[in-house]
Amino acid sequence: MYQALYRKYRSQTFEEMVGQEVVATTLRQANEQGKISHAYLFSGPRGTGKTSAAKIFAKAMNCPNQVAGEPCNDCYICKAITEGSLEDIIEIDAASNNGVDEIRDVRDKSTYAPSLATYKVYIIDEVHMLSTGAFNALLKTLEEPTENVVFILATTELHKIPATILSRVQRFEFKSIKTIDIKRHLAWILDKEGITYDDEALSMIARRAEGGMRDALSILDQALSLSSNQHVELATAEEITGSISLRALDDYMTHIRERRATEALQNLETIFDNGKSMTRFATDLLHYLRDLLMVQTGGDNTHSSQEFLENLTLPKERIFHLIEQVTKGLEDIKSSPQPKIYAEMMTIRLTEEEVQTAPASDTPAPAHLLQQISNLEQEVQKLQAQLGQLSSQPVEVKAASRKPQAKKKYRLDTNKVHSILQEAMENPSQARENLTRLQNAWGEVIESLSGADKALLMQSRR
Ligand SMILES: [Zn+2]
Repeated sequence: MYQALYRKYRSQTFEEMVGQEVVATTLRQANEQGKISHAYLFSGPRGTGKTSAAKIFAKAMNCPNQVAGEPCNDCYICKAITEGSLEDIIEIDAASNNGVDEIRDVRDKSTYAPSLATYKVYIIDEVHMLSTGAFNALLKTLEEPTENVVFILATTELHKIPATILSRVQRFEFKSIKTIDIKRHLAWILDKEGITYDDEALSMIARRAEGGMRDALSILDQALSLSSNQHVELATAEEITGSISLRALDDYMTHIRERRATEALQNLETIFDNGKSMTRFATDLLHYLRDLLMVQTGGDNTHSSQEFLENLTLPKERIFHLIEQVTKGLEDIKSSPQPKIYAEMMTIRLTEEEVQTAPASDTPAPAHLLQQISNLEQEVQKLQAQLGQLSSQPVEVKAASRKPQAKKKYRLDTNKVHSILQEAMENPSQARENLTRLQNAWGEVIESLSGADKALLMQSRR
């Protein structure tokens, strides 16, 4: 029976763990020195080895033949833990057992001494899925630790773990595994299996796994199931990872480099017709640009095509600019119900010359707006002059208006006129809008007056 690579090549010692050297060394040394805590929390992205590490640790602390903190993997206890048949090592998936009852049950049973092993170990995976009640029950358990009982909690979402729990556990952070480390591990496995491969195929699978070894191995498994001749081909890897074929991407970038929008759009069409998602395409494009930069600055070239070498002639500044635009385009593509349109718009932009736009403040205001402002100034001057005349005859105005509020309101409106005018001069581009506002305010000014005053001022309105 075929055994999945992920199971077959699951690391069985700290030494074998890929890309988590700090965590592996610390746990191994703790075990070697017999310093076992009551509770641990392993956090990090999915597929980075958290549960594998938990099982290795459980074995190591219980193995009677341990060497330098490593389990022997050969004794009855090690073998039983590997198979998952030792009753002292209890694995719980909090995603499916997230209730209070389950954790109370754990709490009750954890007080019994281990039967065969030295330490009873509870491994609670996806611990962030526990309900609040279950977290409280777990907290009680952690607050009153039982001798020889160890809790190893694992989570992909550290921020969802209550602070009360965090303060009771020893924490270990698992990192995304580097693409180069994943690729090396895949090559090592295929060598062991006696299977050959295209180097570029492994690069593509490793990249697609985005830091998770479990994903990488499951993609490799799929590739193997599609390969009939004990050889992992680039075309198979492309098909499975949904990556745009390197050739299409090479051609696309060549046309972007030469600013040939029509041809680049044709490449995009081909890519789209092959059923590739536009999000995937834009992501691959970002990686391509990033690779250009890396090789330009002395990094290894993982691309083998002539087009890639030619695209290396792109000036660094333009690559930075392209990366910025693709990043922006990717956001639009992701959020739009019409991703292709956005991909096309992005393509056209990528072929355009970078335009240096002058800051808005340097732009001279259009002549007709300046003329309007000048007219407004004249109107305000007239208004002020007439105001002066009015205030020199206060008694008559009051008598004529019979509205004690009128003058006060009048003054307020003048302020409004001034402020609008001020704004108009500071921001010529809004002058037209402000002109309308001023005219409206003008109406208020007129309306606030009565009789003779109104008649006097009406003449000044144009
Ligand atoms: Zn052993």
